[in-house]
Amino acid sequence: MQYILLVALLAIPVLVFGFRRKSGQESEESEDRGVFLEDVQIRYVNLLFGPLSPLGKPEKITLHHTASTNDTVQSIHAYHKSKGWAGIGYHYVVYANGEVWQGRPSDKKVAHTEMQNEGNIGVCFVGNFDTHSMPQKQLEVGKALIKQIQRTKGIKTVTFHKNLKSTNCPGKNFPYSSFLQLS
Ligand SMILES: [Zn+2]
Repeated sequence: MQYILLVALLAIPVLVFGFRRKSGQESEESEDRGVFLEDVQIRYVNLLFGPLSPLGKPEKITLHHTASTNDTVQSIHAYHKSKGWAGIGYHYVVYANGEVWQGRPSDKKVAHTEMQNEGNIGVCFVGNFDTHSMPQKQLEVGKALIKQIQRTKGIKTVTFHKNLKSTNCPGKNFPYSSFLQLS
């Protein structure tokens, strides 16, 4: 009995340090793969839309914030439907943790900027950038996403909601210059 106890006690540090070393290696690996952000993983959830019309020729990307800290692609979808829209008005939603979710299909016209939705790709960052600054992870993934959209859609222009309409969106602390120096 005492022998078993001794073996068990000796095993604890081995297990603890063994796991530590393993998780250390894993985080090193994911840091090494930093460039994989060039190819952003888009997550999908099944959203039900009303009638949608085609996007038109892609011309620009417009950035927004949710002005809240805890929205999800589903909650934005429900909110926009409650306003009588066909569904979520943005093509992509970037969470604070760096997850990117597909909202409206990217070949369909959105409803994020009144009268200026033709060929306009809408990207919304979850957060209130009037009161907070953007977490590093969200910024990195957001920039990679915009570059990916520019590359795949063949467009350069990045603008912000407040340039198209009288609004503070996406907030005074939004890292504007980071998104204007992508290419
Ligand atoms: Zn906006």
